[in-house]
Amino acid sequence: MSMNNQGRPTSTGAATENTDFESFSGHKGLRLAEPLIFELGSTETTGVDVPEVGEFEMAIGGLERTSEIGCPGLSEPDTVRHYTRLSRRNYGIDMGVFPLGSCTMKHNPRLNEKMARLPGFSDIHPLQPKSTVRGAMQLMDELSHWLCTLTGMPAVALSPKAGAHGELCGVMAIRSALEARGDAREVILCPESAHGTNPATAAFCGYKVKAIPAKDNGRVDLEALKEALDDTVAAVMLTNPNTCGLFENEIRDIADAIHAAGAFFYCDGANFNAIMGKARPGDLGVDAMHFNLHKTFSTPHGGGGPGSGPVVFSDALKAHVPVPFVVKTDDGFDLVEDADDKSMGRLVAYHGQMGMYVRALSYMLSHGADGIRQAAEDAVLNANYVLASLGDVMTASFDGPCMHEALFDDRFLKDTGVTTLDFAKAMIDEGYHPMTMYFPLVVHGAMLIEPTESESKFNMDQFIASMRGLAGEAKAGNVDRFSGAPYHAPWKRLDETQAARNPVLRYSPEE
Ligand SMILES: *Cc1c(COP(=O)(O)O)cnc(C)c1O
Repeated sequence: MSMNNQGRPTSTGAATENTDFESFSGHKGLRLAEPLIFELGSTETTGVDVPEVGEFEMAIGGLERTSEIGCPGLSEPDTVRHYTRLSRRNYGIDMGVFPLGSCTMKHNPRLNEKMARLPGFSDIHPLQPKSTVRGAMQLMDELSHWLCTLTGMPAVALSPKAGAHGELCGVMAIRSALEARGDAREVILCPESAHGTNPATAAFCGYKVKAIPAKDNGRVDLEALKEALDDTVAAVMLTNPNTCGLFENEIRDIADAIHAAGAFFYCDGANFNAIMGKARPGDLGVDAMHFNLHKTFSTPHGGGGPGSGPVVFSDALKAHVPVPFVVKTDDGFDLVEDADDKSMGRLVAYHGQMGMYVRALSYMLSHGADGIRQAAEDAVLNANYVLASLGDVMTASFDGPCMHEALFDDRFLKDTGVTTLDFAKAMIDEGYHPMTMYFPLVVHGAMLIEPTESESKFNMDQFIASMRGLAGEAKAGNVDRFSGAPYHAPWKRLDETQAARNPVLRYSPEE
């Protein structure tokens, strides 16, 4: 019987010739086929037992629906099975290594979930009288305190609901501050390696976007930045650590140059996981920075939960923060809900993602200040372990150690006939969610791997062994192993471009 390099059997021992048959059910072993819910149920049946409705008069003025709704009538057990079977198709952080760079897919401690489910947090309503939600306000205040302390910034807006939304909040505050001083500026500078949300946010806020080139060492070209800075520039949006997984070590000079030109420094804080407890953006000259609570402070994300993107502000911007925010009063806490003439006003309907606040604060309190620092150190250590362990078989894009993610490009695949996409698909056969690919755009065929602090050495060694094995296969010319991958997945190569450009979001029964 053949064994893998972990000493485990690679086949079941059953005769191999005969395993290609189709089952009668469409299921394959315990991997169950799952049709759409509409294809499962019948509109003729119903899963609920309600009495027939007698004669009644519609009160909606003739606007009632005349066609069938077409809801499938499934019983409760059939409904539960449908969604449970679908959920087993999901690859998640609770199933295995999820090395998606730039996303910080790390373990979500269950304690956070328990805290978020406390009825005093989970069962409250945003329109409840303030006197009945003092505890929630205290929690928001305490979370604000942690976020300000960790960044060395004086103010925070909790309400944005994702990283990209936080960017919008930050850039709106910058625009509001510029307008307040009667200084209409029209350009925002973004490095070439920026996450797509940075230029998108700038454009959404009505700014022209100009790209700043990077140097050979993967950092922003300070001289090029200085040249581009003039009195039309409203802000520079910069990610630090940057999207190549590198610390922008000239950040103080960058900040000084930005401020000398009268512009603001927006920092994309999606990679804060690498520096939390180690460096404070306020000390680095940042004027506004969002967190992705769902990345850095562990709360679930990626199809699994809502996001939350609080933004911290410097003294120069703090008057322009959105409402609502929590303030401490003599006898407790209060919510400021009305904007003064400097505030940008309201960004979301209510107060933001309460459940995420609870999870993030629970993460912070259970780690403590020293634990948070250690999480950052371990994240960086793990990424460097991956970088060092793969550096001889894959091509690292930049010299020297990285921060929390290791960036490779496709030079090691040159002349093999295998692309970054093929390589990523072959990782699925190995049982791994692929790393981030083709981002950042500044290196060719990028593969960005972020193990995070929550992977053990054992897990990383298994992952590294698979990656080394695949790199060896590619170099040995075994193109077939890649070109049709994933072979072991229920669906093979889907037309992702077509799916993104032409999404079919509505079920229509075939006549
Ligand atoms: C994830 C990410 C964002 C966007 O955050 P969302 O919460 O997905 O909106 C922005 N910039 C960088 C560098 C990121 O990694």
